[in-house]
Amino acid sequence: METDANPPPDVDRPPAAAAPPGLGVAEPTADAPASDVAAVLKNQFGHDAFRPMQQRIVADALAGRDVFVILPTGGGKSLCYQLPAVVSRQRAITDGEVPGVTVVVSPLIALMQNQVDVLRANGVAAAFLNSTLDLQELHEHEQAAIKGELDLVYLAPERLMTPNGQRWLSRVPVARFAIDEAHCISEWGHDFRPEYRQLGDLRSALDGRFADVPIMALTATATPRVADDIVRQLNLRQAALHRGGFERTNLTYEVRPKQRVVEQTLTYLREHPDDEGIVYCQSRAKCEQIAQKLKQAGVEALPYHAGLTAEVRDANQHAFIFGDARVVVATIAFGMGVDKPDVRFVFHADLPRNLEAYYQETGRAGRDGLPARCVLFYSGGDRSKVEFFINQKPDATEREHAQQQLAEMVRYCHTTACRTKVVLAHFGEDLEGECGHCDNCLEPPRVRDVTEDARKLLSAVARTGQRFGLSHVIDVLRGSASQKVLSRGHHELSVHGIGKDDPAGHWRAVAEHLIAEGFLVQTPDEYRTVTLTPESKPLLKGDVGVEMPVSRAMREKAAGARRPATTNIELSDGDHALFESLRQLRKRLADEQGVPPYVVFGDAALQQMAAERPADESQFLAISGVGQTKLQRYGPVFLEAIAAHS
Ligand code: ADP
Ligand code: ZN
Repeated sequence: METDANPPPDVDRPPAAAAPPGLGVAEPTADAPASDVAAVLKNQFGHDAFRPMQQRIVADALAGRDVFVILPTGGGKSLCYQLPAVVSRQRAITDGEVPGVTVVVSPLIALMQNQVDVLRANGVAAAFLNSTLDLQELHEHEQAAIKGELDLVYLAPERLMTPNGQRWLSRVPVARFAIDEAHCISEWGHDFRPEYRQLGDLRSALDGRFADVPIMALTATATPRVADDIVRQLNLRQAALHRGGFERTNLTYEVRPKQRVVEQTLTYLREHPDDEGIVYCQSRAKCEQIAQKLKQAGVEALPYHAGLTAEVRDANQHAFIFGDARVVVATIAFGMGVDKPDVRFVFHADLPRNLEAYYQETGRAGRDGLPARCVLFYSGGDRSKVEFFINQKPDATEREHAQQQLAEMVRYCHTTACRTKVVLAHFGEDLEGECGHCDNCLEPPRVRDVTEDARKLLSAVARTGQRFGLSHVIDVLRGSASQKVLSRGHHELSVHGIGKDDPAGHWRAVAEHLIAEGFLVQTPDEYRTVTLTPESKPLLKGDVGVEMPVSRAMREKAAGARRPATTNIELSDGDHALFESLRQLRKRLADEQGVPPYVVFGDAALQQMAAERPADESQFLAISGVGQTKLQRYGPVFLEAIAAHS
């Protein structure tokens, strides 16, 4: 795939000559945010500080510029338009002007609902317009926007661009347009939506009434082709480009040998009783099967795949987001609508299609900035399976492309180097040093020299004429007297029995490693014949050696990942008990209000409460995640619970 230039993490990319014409310079802005901006950040959003890049994005937006935000999932994009929405409206009111409304275009009803729930819980005036509302509510929200009573109004592009939508829009005092998931406008992206295309008319529609209203486009898609397309399609003007580094410092990336995924998952769930997460599989049948097995073991697990009816899918997704299901076992059908910030793990029970998909899927973990784990369960058999499917593709170019992607994915699994580096390199980003939050960094793999074994194996392949599959080669190595071995006369070869001291599993592992490293290839047909490669010769001659990582068991504890804005607090047992009871309180309040638990408070806020045990309102307000509205709404009951526990 194409990749962007290498912007250092968290630094705005300078306007290189190659920048698309619609992009301008991201102005350096003052070090400290304006005082009203800082006040709104804490009072309305409960955040003590900006995440990297947010401050300058907000300043550019408030300066009335078009802004283009490219930040990874969990980077905090929503705040970039939500905070300016509140601040501009407050400023207008102070200045006696008509307060403007920020019109947010969002692709999915579920996303709008979640965002608006969170905003309202923080006392922000927000509403959405979509088909889940009855006519009365719809009318009320439309009127509120027309009267300038809302900070933000959310709607889908297809509603905005209809004649009705345009008639409504012509009466709204629009402060700014925010186009969320802006890559949906591009056919080059992974999630093209034709409805988004119509947004290209936003600036010319209604006789150019909104020609000068600033637009903010936001996406987590990093490819330059898509970025250029977004700028062009939306007619952005000298937009300030803010592109973040794509490293997710709070995610631990791990690869584990795939043995019994259900057992491995259950072990993890038992050791991390608070964690909720996603298990991705390739097939519908496997989703059902794993979900079923987890359920039998007492875990609230639900399947999610395209074979289920829309109702069941919605219900299962809802249960997960609202904390009524702990695990979703899903195919790739489960994705964009999932705005749950406290997904603590993303496991892959099967090999993902490619690194991009893997990055996207694991990106759903830890949006709240707390540590989360991404584990890929890998087996060489999976690689063969994917290869088999690739070879069914009739188109040669497509086949080649898929093979390349698979090879990259396999290299990621086999590497003993920093995994984050491998992933970021794929996106054209050069990570300096090592990440410190992948398994290879945290626990450098023990390697063993397998040169001798590799040579035995390659010799066996050569001596049997490069005409057999792995099983037969291994049978010969281990001195089998099977019918097949005898009938070919392979018991008379010098290699017969030279590997009898090691189990077949060992030889298979060595072979898989040699295949991943390019010392052996397997034919793509059903016979899976293994043959030598140009790399084999130097190894056979003893000019080069091979090392193989000794496979690791599932790690006991989540690794101490480097942390960004928030810190995961190590809770003592007593604090943990309080954290548990605060979680229950949160769930009860959330259920009463019909919102997901994280709308009440995020895990980070609860952890901080459990550790610091605020005793009065001012101490409660000092908790990160507590703003004025939440102080008033939840302060008393949480303070009481904390006092009762202490
Ligand atoms: P994105 O849309 O980029 O994936 P979100 O806007 O959903 O990310 O933000 C991810 C999480 O980060 C949310 O839970 C949000 O409350 C939190 N967050 C955003 N900005 C801050 C901040 N400045 N301080 C602390 N948490 C933040
Ligand atoms: Zn690393």
